[in-house]
Amino acid sequence: TRTSVTILGLGAMGTALARTWLAAGHPLAVWNRTPARAAVLAAEGARAADSAAEAVAANSLVIACLLDDASVDEALAGTDLAGRDLVNLTTSTPAQARARAEWARERGARYLDGGIMAVPPMIGVPEAGGYVFYSGSRELFERHQETLGVPVGTRYVGEDAGFAALYDVALLSAMYGMFAGAAHAFALIRKEDIDPASLAPLLADWLVAMAPSVHQTAGQLRSGDYTKGVVSHLAMQVAGMPTFVSTAEGQGVSPELLSPYFELMRRRLSEGSGEEGLTGVIDLLVH
Ligand code: NDP
Repeated sequence: TRTSVTILGLGAMGTALARTWLAAGHPLAVWNRTPARAAVLAAEGARAADSAAEAVAANSLVIACLLDDASVDEALAGTDLAGRDLVNLTTSTPAQARARAEWARERGARYLDGGIMAVPPMIGVPEAGGYVFYSGSRELFERHQETLGVPVGTRYVGEDAGFAALYDVALLSAMYGMFAGAAHAFALIRKEDIDPASLAPLLADWLVAMAPSVHQTAGQLRSGDYTKGVVSHLAMQVAGMPTFVSTAEGQGVSPELLSPYFELMRRRLSEGSGEEGLTGVIDLLVH
């Protein structure tokens, strides 16, 4: 028999998760602050609870997928979590996740925090490659790994409850850097007779080709030798910066997305690190 699941929060994400458990035959209890959303799931076979307390009482595995950390406080106030396996998929900071783990422990619950690396259309679609980072109770994760893996893949990243949030934010932060670079690239061609759709595949392939450079970065951070394997020296790259700035100016494009990174590269070079690549910039960021 399939593990029974309680899910609190039926927004876009909670509803997508809930449907995959229903489809896989897991008995499902649902609760949502606005009852209409729970009624939709009830029509699909879930049991709609009248209160969060009732939903929590229904099953030992309790999933929360709410807006933010404050809404978890509000929703779970007045529920009895003793003996429950609480899996919190609500996006939070590492500090909030650690505090929530302690909060759950004080209430007699095991705790697992999750960071969802997927958007709702990727839930229940294994080939889309989405997954959830999990951290906190290893025992809870191992016991429920199969059930947790029904909607989307699972990656356990350690006992520190804050790590799932940390990995989540790390990946999304890198993504925003990529979006910033792509925005600048599109801006450069904006006023020309160039079809953005002809740049897009070139851009996508180039970003994919450059992405494995993170492995070299990691190797350098591990060894402490930031010159190892470097083919594009910082001195050369800084010498090339005027090309980027002048090109942007010539195209009537603000360099403001690139400038902060360039500034860090210059600072690192001024400290005498011309033989390095770009890894030294990381040390300038860490206080
Ligand atoms: P939605 O805005 O669609 O849903 C928010 C949910 O939180 C609703 O169920 C809402 O209830 C509930 N809620 C908000 N405030 C409270 C409160 N004070 N008390 C009780 N319930 C409350 O968000 P999503 O479903 O998209 O997101 C849920 C979580 O998943 C978030 O933490 C989000 O960061 C994360 N996530 C979402 C992704 C996405 O692409 N959607 C991707 C990755 C993570 P009500 O219906 O009553 O308003």
